[in-house]
Amino acid sequence: MSIKWFYRCPACAATYAIAPGRYLCEHCAKEQQPQRPLSGVLDVDWEGEVAAGSIPLPVDKKWLPPIPVGNTPLWAPRRLRDEFGAPNLWIKDDTCNPSGSFKDRASYLVAAFAREHRLPEIVLASTGNAASSMAAVGAAAGLKIKVFLPAAAPVAKRIQVLQYGAELVAVNGNYDAAFDLSLEYSTRSGSLSRNTAYNPLTIEGKKTVSFEMVDDLLRAGGNEPDHVFVPTGDGVILAGVYRGFENLKRLGRIAKMPTLWACQAEGSSAIARAFASNRDGNDAFSDPLRSSTIADSIAVDVPRNGLHALAKLRKHGGRVVTVDDQAILAAQQKLSASSGLFAEPSSIAAFAGWLKVRESIPANQTCVLLITGSGLKDISAATLGLGLNPGHQQPTGEQA
Ligand SMILES: *Cc1c(COP(=O)(O)O)cnc(C)c1O
Repeated sequence: MSIKWFYRCPACAATYAIAPGRYLCEHCAKEQQPQRPLSGVLDVDWEGEVAAGSIPLPVDKKWLPPIPVGNTPLWAPRRLRDEFGAPNLWIKDDTCNPSGSFKDRASYLVAAFAREHRLPEIVLASTGNAASSMAAVGAAAGLKIKVFLPAAAPVAKRIQVLQYGAELVAVNGNYDAAFDLSLEYSTRSGSLSRNTAYNPLTIEGKKTVSFEMVDDLLRAGGNEPDHVFVPTGDGVILAGVYRGFENLKRLGRIAKMPTLWACQAEGSSAIARAFASNRDGNDAFSDPLRSSTIADSIAVDVPRNGLHALAKLRKHGGRVVTVDDQAILAAQQKLSASSGLFAEPSSIAAFAGWLKVRESIPANQTCVLLITGSGLKDISAATLGLGLNPGHQQPTGEQA
């Protein structure tokens, strides 16, 4: 029983071997325009029979680094269920990953690929979490990690990168500038790029969450998910979650695709605007705006995976919802005080998005909130939400 793995371009159907140096579809990448999402983002695909109950992955499991990524808790927030009359609400808590964010799922697979192909260095750009994640997983794997990070990234994420022993290049600019600089470096040095969407394995690695969600829901005696709320910036998590459900459908492990909700901050809503535009391809992204939101992990001017994510949203009948920063900060406290979970603002977009649309969803349907990052990663946002002075060292106001 052997499986043949390959990349497939969802736009033109060209296929490629999964090998070092291959990132985008060489035909579709030629359509790349400045200030637009990546053209030519590839899907991972396979031919052959998958072992029952397993998660099919394009890298042999023996190369996965020795660190416990994934298999995060799926749990029932009872007090929220009662308060909102939502008996089928679930939380998939990816703050429990080793570096505190969902990004570990992608780093895990990319690191396994690097080990399999004896590539010593991985380089990437990040708004913070991809960097701290790659640094953590790279440390477990014994890989050299170089990250390009906007100088304004939250301090906890920067400290994580250094703590795990990675090399940090502070970029005097935003994520988009860091993305370009890191690509220049990886092209010049031949290091493996973990840039999100650009490396197809970043999408593929994220699909594991869908398999876990379905397994855990069925094991808990629940139904397969009807709605999944996904915080969305570049749209890579969204595409990864879709990939997982596409696989599950193909393998006959779910009866129908759930409705995915791309949850965006109002100040960084390129995918939501593209979706609402009724246009497709680059035309849907022809009005890039400068992003401005407290939810730094989903703050992007040009969503790298925008074309790919938009195509999947359209194909599977997905939905979008946007929430403003005030709603995010209020929902952040609400989630913590009513469930015991402290999540960073980007993840809260999923909860705030659900709060906004929940009345349109019948109470008997199963909703999963994908909570992607720990609140401890960005204390200044929560400080603001609590109405405290950011310079305040003693929140109780008591001086020792
Ligand atoms: C990266 C990230 C997101 C958004 O993922 P995209 O693939 O950019 O849409 C959401 N939440 C957290 C915590 C993240 O780190």
